[in-house]
Amino acid sequence: MEVEIKNEYLRQLYQRVEKRDPDQPEFLQAVGEVLQSLAPVADRRPDLVDCGVFDRIVEPERLIQFRVPWVDDCGKVQVDRGFRVQFNSAIGPYKGGLRFHPSVNASIIKFLGFEQTFKNSLTGLPMGGGKGGSDFDPKGKSDAEVMRFCQSFMTELAKHIGPDTDVPAGDIGVGAREIGYLFGQYKRLQNCFSGVLTGKGLTYGGSLGRTQATGYGLLYFLREMLDAMKGEDIAGKRIVISGSGNVAIYACEKAQQLGAKVVAMSDSAGYIYDEHGIDLEAVKQIKEVERGRIKLYADRVPGSRYVEGCRNIWTLPCDIALPCATQNELDVDSAKALIANGVLAVCEGANMPSTPEAAQALQQAGVLFAPGKASNAGGVSVSGLEMSQNSMRYAWTFEEVDQKLEEIMKGIFHAAYQAAEQYGAPGDLIAGANIAGFLKVAESMKAQGIAY
Ligand code: NDP
Repeated sequence: MEVEIKNEYLRQLYQRVEKRDPDQPEFLQAVGEVLQSLAPVADRRPDLVDCGVFDRIVEPERLIQFRVPWVDDCGKVQVDRGFRVQFNSAIGPYKGGLRFHPSVNASIIKFLGFEQTFKNSLTGLPMGGGKGGSDFDPKGKSDAEVMRFCQSFMTELAKHIGPDTDVPAGDIGVGAREIGYLFGQYKRLQNCFSGVLTGKGLTYGGSLGRTQATGYGLLYFLREMLDAMKGEDIAGKRIVISGSGNVAIYACEKAQQLGAKVVAMSDSAGYIYDEHGIDLEAVKQIKEVERGRIKLYADRVPGSRYVEGCRNIWTLPCDIALPCATQNELDVDSAKALIANGVLAVCEGANMPSTPEAAQALQQAGVLFAPGKASNAGGVSVSGLEMSQNSMRYAWTFEEVDQKLEEIMKGIFHAAYQAAEQYGAPGDLIAGANIAGFLKVAESMKAQGIAY
């Protein structure tokens, strides 16, 4: 899609970014979307232009790339590529997850780190933006192989992170098992038990509610958005959720608790459709316990069916769509199918799951649209709360954490909603989230001088 930036200075900046990294499409997509939103800010705030905040914010403070050698179960040496982008530390230590997936490259890590900067700002907690990962594919690997990979990955990463410097967490392909191995290796190398990672197990410093946080937070955001913008409630709504990983499972759980009917979920191979409403225990058994494919669900749950290929999930009629798998999974054709079926709201659980064309089509059709950097911020919010608990050497109850999460998600919705109004784009939560997230980071960068 043509990036239309209604401010000459930002347009030229985008052209420079494009010229510098022409082979990074995901990064350019994320930067283009944010700069589009920031045009009215650049118009009104020449002081931020003068101190180069816009130019600085699109360039990571540091990008680390490293070799990750490890030995597989057959005794063969394997070499993967590791990354950590330390994007912005204006408001706190770098913070953001690690992704293990064969598609990982510098473009994907930079887009995720860039988005994370604004997301973390929106939470109101003192966290800068970072992201990392590897093109290692944990699928089909034994526990011992995953452990050896994690140990090798951390042997290099440990040189660059720390509880007051950079605090990674999980993302696609990095769950409790991987965080445990990574934490163990960091502790062994540094001889120091610290809160250097979040998403830790409950027996060694993890926070109650972190596993559920992104999915639950997504539903808290959705509830607030539906109520404030349409006077509607979640109860009784038909929901389609893509993915069947951490975010998707706990989005489904909270949606069901709030009285909605979730009729479909997916993985990268296909989707399941269950008119009676998804049996979440069956999904958890397959995905969390057996690490199996979603296809198994149709074999086990009578009345459900499996459809090969995940993209067509958006052709299923629903009131609410929650894309919770990966970037650019919801394209303009999917958006048109959702609109034709009368969708009321699309709330992003994954990072940048909608293409820019899809997001625009949905907004133009009057569909409520929540961008991931606002609506999926629950995960990093509870990661922030995990950091606080580790610093205090204390643990809150599940209810305490969940209540704080709900307040944070409501706060994010209202911050985005108000910023959209103040900057002449009422109801546009993409613009609002970008502006509200940007302003706090920008003021901090200005106040701290041209250090980075
Ligand atoms: P998981 O690894 O737990 O699950 C990922 C799910 O998405 C799986 O069902 C997976 O299917 C599917 N998926 C992954 N890649 C693709 C692809 N290329 N095409 C289609 N489906 C795919 O990850 P999470 O649930 O943690 O993360 C999902 C999304 O949410 C990501 O965008 C992540 O960045 C974002 N997110 C996660 C947070 C968290 O706290 N975990 C916080 C905020 C955002 P398969 O098993 O077949 O690969």
